[in-house]
Amino acid sequence: MKKLIIVGGGFAGLKAALTAAFENKENDGNINITLVSQNDFLVMRPRLYESNPEKMRVPFRPMLDTLGINFVEGLVSKIVPTEHTISIKMTRALEMEISYDQLILAAGSVSKSLPIPGLKEHSWNINSYQAAIALDGHLLKVARLKNIGGQNRFVILGAGITGIEMAMELRSRIHVHSDDATAAAIEILLIDQADHIGPAPSETTAEVFEQAFKEANILVKLGQTITNITLNSILLADGEEIETATVIVTTGLQANPLADLLDVERDASGRLTVDGSLRVNGVKNIFAAGDIAAAKADDAHMALMSCQHAMPMGAHAGYNAVHSLLGLPHQKYAQPDYSTCVDLGEIGALLTKGWDRQIVMTGPEAKALKQKINGSYIYPPDGNAADILAHSHIDAHWADSNQ
Ligand SMILES: Cc1cc2nc3c(=O)[nH]c(=O)nc-3n(C[C@H](O)[C@H](O)[C@H](O)COP(=O)(O)OP(=O)(O)OC[C@H]3O[C@@H](n4cnc5c(N)ncnc54)[C@H](O)[C@@H]3O)c2cc1C
Repeated sequence: MKKLIIVGGGFAGLKAALTAAFENKENDGNINITLVSQNDFLVMRPRLYESNPEKMRVPFRPMLDTLGINFVEGLVSKIVPTEHTISIKMTRALEMEISYDQLILAAGSVSKSLPIPGLKEHSWNINSYQAAIALDGHLLKVARLKNIGGQNRFVILGAGITGIEMAMELRSRIHVHSDDATAAAIEILLIDQADHIGPAPSETTAEVFEQAFKEANILVKLGQTITNITLNSILLADGEEIETATVIVTTGLQANPLADLLDVERDASGRLTVDGSLRVNGVKNIFAAGDIAAAKADDAHMALMSCQHAMPMGAHAGYNAVHSLLGLPHQKYAQPDYSTCVDLGEIGALLTKGWDRQIVMTGPEAKALKQKINGSYIYPPDGNAADILAHSHIDAHWADSNQ
């Protein structure tokens, strides 16, 4: 029996496992499919800026059991491509080695490290489930305790999409832990070294963001770098010291260090370069999908570290890995359409379409869409076996089952 191993139970890895199971069944294959991941739940990472981060996870074992996919809980620590084996750390003392015929790497991304003294000790982020919960515990503390220096000022480092969403949600996050007066009194300061708000310079989106910040009473400092962080302050490059007990870093992601285990080409974000089938360049029988993969979305654009790219990439990697094992043709990964929906808290949301981010919707209408995306479209199917299978086709979206 041939073995397909998928590493990482995130958006790409889970989608890869479900699509692989679909293709295996569809083609009367006899492939043994195993998902290896650190946890047995999918973390809804795009929702980690919201309140109650502890609820942002979906257990996936029932789904895997239903489709006959094996699960191993552990951390992959070694890959030996010449021997077709990986090592999995199950506990501190227990490590096991398993072999594969095809391997899919979908271990996602981690916070990009920044050389700012004090950042590691005195800042927070929302890049992982544990980090988001830790931040929430800190927010509770600063909202309720008295006499913490800088407790009313919240600095967000990074004015990209995650920074914007975090800033716009922060007042209501504090409100959850306190009262109207405390939430109204906080000062939110968004800082970025770039001279524009949002992921790329754009006059039209900048207008929407500026208006939203004005209405939400959020201060913005652009073209500024933080050079030091302490427990109760930050220092800017121009010498200004600002008192704050909370610095939330949203400046970006880099490929999971699992990518470093392979001696192959990587891009500037540490991602594994892949071909059109999502096979890792320079090594045999290994695919990559999601944030860990540098794939071409179309002739002019690389896929971004986003769910909207991770899920179709996962589907293609699962499909192509099974097809490799069954001697069937691959399907090329391509995703020319691109859109973003940015949550603007109580003010609404902003929907843009295209790589040049043309505004197509704002306000409450866009907010309703954002709520559907966050509350439904990005959730995996949770029905019966037939329903899960139907939503595991390479071209199927998960959402339909949840609407
Ligand atoms: C705050 C925030 C907001 C975001 N907002 C959006 C948004 O609005 N829209 C959007 O499209 N995207 C958004 N993203 C990006 C999106 O969440 C990621 O692109 C997506 O999660 C990538 O999917 P993935 O499967 O590659 O990685 P992940 O979802 O991170 O999954 C990786 C999995 O691999 C496991 N793993 C890691 N290392 C190992 C190992 N060594 N061994 C075994 N398992 C391992 C992890 O535990 C995890 O389960 C956001 C991300 C963040 C952090």
